[in-house]
Amino acid sequence: MQGRSLPQELRYRPAQNQLLLRVKRLEGRPSTIRIDHRFRWLRELMNDVFPAITQHGPSAEIIFDLVPGADHVRMGLTVALPLTPTCDVCLDPYPDRLQFSVDLVCRAAEDMEQDVGALSAGERQYLAEDAETIPFTQGEIDLTDICREQINLFRPQRFRCRETCLGLCPRCGVNLNRLRCDCTRGDLSASAWGKLRDYRPSKKSP
Ligand SMILES: [Zn+2]
Ligand SMILES: [Zn+2]
Repeated sequence: MQGRSLPQELRYRPAQNQLLLRVKRLEGRPSTIRIDHRFRWLRELMNDVFPAITQHGPSAEIIFDLVPGADHVRMGLTVALPLTPTCDVCLDPYPDRLQFSVDLVCRAAEDMEQDVGALSAGERQYLAEDAETIPFTQGEIDLTDICREQINLFRPQRFRCRETCLGLCPRCGVNLNRLRCDCTRGDLSASAWGKLRDYRPSKKSP
């Protein structure tokens, strides 16, 4: 999608960075909406969810595959966001990427309440636990809310530059992925032997 022309089924409220899907405008037909970094909404969303570790490269993308039904909209959500987090172990920034797809069902909250009224207690409980069903009101689905929630569900608990990150030396603080130190080989540097090891005879000038 181009930044300047919004598809007719979307409504953007810049003050709240709220992006709304107008269900009626889908006109009962499946459609795909692809949003990239050129649309301010995505940049603002990334800054909101990942403050300070966001990259606004052209590879940032969110795709909505929408299939409207009689009383619901099925939504395939695909998220691909480039990030530069700081490794929790060695504290170095590194390039990473959050990527996931999830299938959701959105239903009008008014319909859901009616349905719930006709259900048994057990069925009601089941519906309440069905996190995949997202209610919406007044014919508009809040895409900002949905994306923020799903990104927070899928974001990694910890950031690691690599599985085998060696971290920092607890004594001298060097990054052991890049440098080696002698701290772990006894206390050489502090001893006389350390001084001897570092000793370089100066050349005598003729
Ligand atoms: Zn690391
Ligand atoms: Zn060290």
